[in-house]
Amino acid sequence: MPTEFNIIEKYFTRPSKNADLGVGDDASLIQISAGHHLAVSADMLVAGTHFLANCPAYFVGWKSLAVNISDMAAMGATPKWATLAIALPTIDETWLAEFSRGFFACADAFGVSLIGGDTTRGPLNISVQIMGEVPIGKALRRDGAKAGDEIWVSGTLGAAALGLAQLKNILPENTLSAEEKQSCIDNLQAPQPRVALGLTLQDIAHSAIDISDGLLADLGHIVERSKLGANLYWELIPHVHVGNGIDTSSLQNLCLAGGDDYELCFTAPASQHNAIVAIGKKLNLKLSAIGETTQKTNLNLYDKNHQLIKLKTTGYDHFS
Ligand code: ADP
Ligand code: MG
Repeated sequence: MPTEFNIIEKYFTRPSKNADLGVGDDASLIQISAGHHLAVSADMLVAGTHFLANCPAYFVGWKSLAVNISDMAAMGATPKWATLAIALPTIDETWLAEFSRGFFACADAFGVSLIGGDTTRGPLNISVQIMGEVPIGKALRRDGAKAGDEIWVSGTLGAAALGLAQLKNILPENTLSAEEKQSCIDNLQAPQPRVALGLTLQDIAHSAIDISDGLLADLGHIVERSKLGANLYWELIPHVHVGNGIDTSSLQNLCLAGGDDYELCFTAPASQHNAIVAIGKKLNLKLSAIGETTQKTNLNLYDKNHQLIKLKTTGYDHFS
């Protein structure tokens, strides 16, 4: 049976490009660039809550780091360092090898070094801390929105929630083609944090957040912290393609309350509209203006006839 130290050496030790001292001592040593803030955040993934028990280990590894990197993207920060505290019920080397492969694939894709952590026995639980840097004064905060800002989202919303519904077998039969199914499941299991977008928005956006709990909840944090409200227009919200098996109200719940999208929602002055369109072209990333912030503090969603849309509180009632 391998020891804790064999496991760390074999699966979690790689040369740390960004650190002066990485895994192997009592602490790692890092230097941050002059004139920068250290941006720090942590996200825990619990089996059964944040990923399904049968999720392939590769994607558990990818996602545990990707959701953390997404927080750096939302701050306009460059992700650089991560620590990993992991509790494992048993030493399953096949699982560990795949988990480690997925974790480091994500680390390599975004230039992040794993610089330390903790490994212990217990119910499967993965806790990652991410650290990055952002020039002082340039971070994209939740409290920076101004009344009259345009509200934007990247990508399309609802695919991850639809992927989860698919995996839980709660979608009506033949709702999605085989290709659509796979693409929704990819969105759920292998989110792509929008780091390049966050960095480009440093001088353009007033506020930003990553969408982990659904657009309405997360935009809700921006307007609450900025003491504002928002008008949103359903027709402008980029949503995943669904077949005939799903009605509009269920689709709205998937896209607005579904979660796990890891797209960015941000606000910017209307004067930046064309600059943001150009950024979308340059990054080859769909960016949609979906509404505006208001002095009045409520969050309203309108249909194409400018009628208020009433939302159900949860996304999945309809399918269960
Ligand atoms: P200590 O007992 O001094 O806290 P540990 O024995 O827990 O140290 O860890 C030994 C080294 O391995 C440390 O540098 C620690 O940061 C690192 N480490 C432990 N678990 C992990 C992990 N899952 N991923 C990355 N590094 C780890
Ligand atoms: Mg020690």
